[in-house]
Amino acid sequence: MIFLKTDDEIELLRQSNLLVGKTLAEVAKLIKPGVTTKELDRVAEEFIRDHGAIPTFKGYPSPYGGPFPGTLCTSVNDQVVHGIPNDVPLKDGDIVSVDCGTLMNGFCGDSAYTFCVGDVDPEIRQLLQVTKEALYLGIENAVHGKRLGDIGFAIQSHCEAKSYGVVREFVGHGIGHEMHEDPQVPNYGKRGSGTMLKKGMCIAIEPMITQGSRQIVMERDGWTVRTKDRKFAAHFEHTVAVGIGKADILSSFEYIEQVLGDKSI
Ligand code: MG
Ligand code: MG
Repeated sequence: MIFLKTDDEIELLRQSNLLVGKTLAEVAKLIKPGVTTKELDRVAEEFIRDHGAIPTFKGYPSPYGGPFPGTLCTSVNDQVVHGIPNDVPLKDGDIVSVDCGTLMNGFCGDSAYTFCVGDVDPEIRQLLQVTKEALYLGIENAVHGKRLGDIGFAIQSHCEAKSYGVVREFVGHGIGHEMHEDPQVPNYGKRGSGTMLKKGMCIAIEPMITQGSRQIVMERDGWTVRTKDRKFAAHFEHTVAVGIGKADILSSFEYIEQVLGDKSI
């Protein structure tokens, strides 16, 4: 069942999502060769709790493994999503996708950004750039009267035109009191197909794009999803409210990009 949100509810969702953006900016300040993803996770959890919110990923149940142990999902290089923060230092040339979720005043925030660690190969930087472009092309279609397939089509066609893979097994989602609500929001689809979008629908759009084949495997930890061919993957996510003529982006990359400056993708 899809819950349409009132304007007041959308403002509460915005607050939770802006906190996610600010948390990711705190993480951005620390990303460099030598830092561990566990250290990023510790800083993120403290920042979220200091702002009176709860990290929603922590303790999230999985049908395949134990509850998720981190505040962040940190997915390095060939890891696509749901990487578990660990003690392995990031290296020059790595990329790390950082996904973060909060619960504040009863509403969820959910946003993700893929960061470069030091000097990253231009081909990989292009993967990040195209994935981020695809996210915004998807968002352009999150308007009243369009359909879910229009979002998926915009993302898929942009990425496949560059011969990248579009992950199918994991998708975006509705968001509100719960982190994962209806509908599912695939990153692939046919124009004009699927559920009609209505003002007040709030959805997380999150392309997961691979440099090579779109095939993925899950690691034995029951969480970490990586590419089967071990090529790199990128993940960008915004939470948006469907609007008349224009989507309202509730999360923000502005804080992150202030930190990154001219190193932004
Ligand atoms: Mg997320
Ligand atoms: Mg999400």
